[in-house]
Amino acid sequence: MPPLNEQPIANDPANVDFLKCLQQPGDLRTLFLQAAEFQKKSVQKLMRGVTTSRRASAIWSDAMNRVAQGVGESPLAADRECGSGCHFCCRFSTVDIMPMEAVVIAEYLQDHCSAAERDALKSRLEKIVALRKEASPAKAAQLRLGCGLLGDDGLCSVYSVRPLICAGVFSASRDVCEAIFENRDLGHDSPPFDNPARAWAMGVSGGLQRALSESGLDGNLYELNSAVLCALNTPGAAELWGRGVDVFADCLCRDPHSPPRRRPELLRFDAPSKPASHLKAARARRRRPKNSIRKR
Ligand code: SF4
Ligand code: SF4
Repeated sequence: MPPLNEQPIANDPANVDFLKCLQQPGDLRTLFLQAAEFQKKSVQKLMRGVTTSRRASAIWSDAMNRVAQGVGESPLAADRECGSGCHFCCRFSTVDIMPMEAVVIAEYLQDHCSAAERDALKSRLEKIVALRKEASPAKAAQLRLGCGLLGDDGLCSVYSVRPLICAGVFSASRDVCEAIFENRDLGHDSPPFDNPARAWAMGVSGGLQRALSESGLDGNLYELNSAVLCALNTPGAAELWGRGVDVFADCLCRDPHSPPRRRPELLRFDAPSKPASHLKAARARRRRPKNSIRKR
């Protein structure tokens, strides 16, 4: 079995389409870029004045405020049908989060749950991670493994410190969300999302990822269940991450876009089909001066 980091996870086609949409000129791209730029500058400023152990919580609070502000200003806000207890999206989506978000969630769980509650949560997360590890990407999507932080009462157990992306997703139709969850065909591939809100939240997240990795911290995205489990199982995870230690090496990661994960042999969506020796030869060719003579 290859390490977790080398296993692909099914990518949500609706997400892929939206990401493509953010690459085209238009209002959504403008929103995305504005949010990313604001957030990047904000993180760079914050990094200068905060201790390593407080980095994650300070940066998370700042980013969450920016997400809340932007999603509140969406012109589609009045159409939203989301509400407390509605959780189809938490059960059909694969959520990716940054290590920073995972350590904030883990600290919240340490402070607000009993040891028994944490143990129960950890075993739920372990089960989901094991299933994701074993299942093919298509099977994992079919199983609706969802988020282990969704409580039995249908509420998010970490709502006040939920991931940034969770705070930016809204739909104008609960019925469509339910139908997608139940695999009923209502003619929709994805819910009618509030796309301006989503573009803004993704921009905040994108700017954050960029600023963190430029500061030497792990800004990659990891599958939520595996990242939270790792943060819970690692004593002092916030401090270690804040010092640039590679804490999340064994987590599921489908988007290794920055150090320390970004190594060509670990990339999954553009993984080279040739073995590593071909890569080495190609790198050597690139390094060789144009007029050098090749030895036979
Ligand atoms: S996105 Fe859909 S499933 Fe999620 S809370 Fe909103 S209406 Fe409910
Ligand atoms: S963290 Fe909370 S809001 Fe986000 S997917 Fe999980 S249960 Fe839903």
